Amino acid sequence: MAISSSSTRTAALVMALSVSVPGLFAQTPVKLPKNRYTPQQDVQLGREAAAEIRKQYPIIEDPQITRYLTGLGDRLVAAAPPALKESVYEYSFTPVNLTEINAFALPGGPMFVHRGMFDAAAAEGEVAGVMAHELSHVLLRHGTANASKAQNPWLQLGQLAGALGGAVVGGAAGSAISQGTEFGLGTLLLRYSRDFEKQADLLGAQIMARAGYDPRALARMFETIERESKTSGGSGPQWMSSHPNPGNRTVYITREAETLAIAAPADERGFRPAKAAFAALPAAKSMSDLARAGGEDGSGGGEAPRSVGTPGEPVPAPSSQFRNISGGKVFQADVPSNWTSLPAKSTMKVVPQNGYGQLNGQAVFSHGVEFGITKAGSRDLQDATNVWLKAVSQNNPDLRMAGEQRAIRISQRSALATQLVNPSPLGGRERIGVYTTFLVDGTLFYYLTIVPDSDAPAFQDTFRRIAESLRLTDAGNR
Ligand SMILES: [Zn+2]
Repeated sequence: MAISSSSTRTAALVMALSVSVPGLFAQTPVKLPKNRYTPQQDVQLGREAAAEIRKQYPIIEDPQITRYLTGLGDRLVAAAPPALKESVYEYSFTPVNLTEINAFALPGGPMFVHRGMFDAAAAEGEVAGVMAHELSHVLLRHGTANASKAQNPWLQLGQLAGALGGAVVGGAAGSAISQGTEFGLGTLLLRYSRDFEKQADLLGAQIMARAGYDPRALARMFETIERESKTSGGSGPQWMSSHPNPGNRTVYITREAETLAIAAPADERGFRPAKAAFAALPAAKSMSDLARAGGEDGSGGGEAPRSVGTPGEPVPAPSSQFRNISGGKVFQADVPSNWTSLPAKSTMKVVPQNGYGQLNGQAVFSHGVEFGITKAGSRDLQDATNVWLKAVSQNNPDLRMAGEQRAIRISQRSALATQLVNPSPLGGRERIGVYTTFLVDGTLFYYLTIVPDSDAPAFQDTFRRIAESLRLTDAGNR
């Protein structure tokens, strides 16, 4: 999808939309910020990230809890300003068995609510308040509005939906992704400015009132979170780092509440039974449990933030189901649905279980594909490719070309295919395919496949299918 094509429509939207629902009360108008993405792109980003999260988070499957949470979410959506509800949005409300007081919503609608939020809430209104705040981030499209502000063109790759999912999970320990890379969900898409926070509080308060909750419950929940983050040192900070307190929260939420007519009180009878159902679940995990389970490479730098399983363990066959990943302005491709995206600063690996991780203190990448961009050392494609391969071989001294380089096409552009062999970190030999072309701005783009000799037959069709689906989107509509 070409991101640049949407700018005209978005600009018109921004001018037309100053949401103030006509009424008797002087509620604070909340504006949709500038955004150069389309609502459809919000949906795509959120959908992809939600899929990653569902794979890695302890999702609660209890039907009673799910029904209760969905009912609560639907009530809030029904109370939201129609002008902000894009018809493409896909709202979902998923409970997760995590201890931290947290909830987060992805662009386009998927929302995840930690069990810890329920455990800490004294009444339904407090949970509803946080959910209304999260829903407001969705409706105001704060994630992609943040991404729209990014100046560095390289951030495009960081806007991969995979980056979103990877960052939520990888950021679990508050480590690599939040501090080391510029792309994480934490820093780009889900870490909101104080201004956006205040907007989400105000719109959230308005939604609460229309749904039959006193917005002051939201202020109370925030006070609980602040208190927790000071005392426990563990459960509140995650929320605090992505939703910074704009200051005087209780004061302005209370003031907003005074301007609002609260609709007929919501039926809160489901709250206690839901709490009881949570209490009957297996013990909740913490985010650091999750990070440990997912593995950590501890590099903290531009490298992918985590392991996918354990290198050396058997690698399952690629799924015959594919999902589309989109690299912001750079590329789109189909990848097996059972592979995991590992976005980093200028690369994105997509790997099967046990295909990437730590082995004997070294980061090992034995199976999968990588997309990336790198500064071209020449205007000639073969020269530029070979300069880059030479740099790669510094860390892989036994890397050898296998046969002649071939001219191919990627997305209708002249491209070059290079086959390489290298000792596999798992023993034996591995095959590496490298496919390079220039982006419109002269940057070298590559698609790389890697597999040990022994597994090569099982991966061949998958690599070909990915290559065939690969489309470069950096030229906009041209
Ligand atoms: Zn927020």
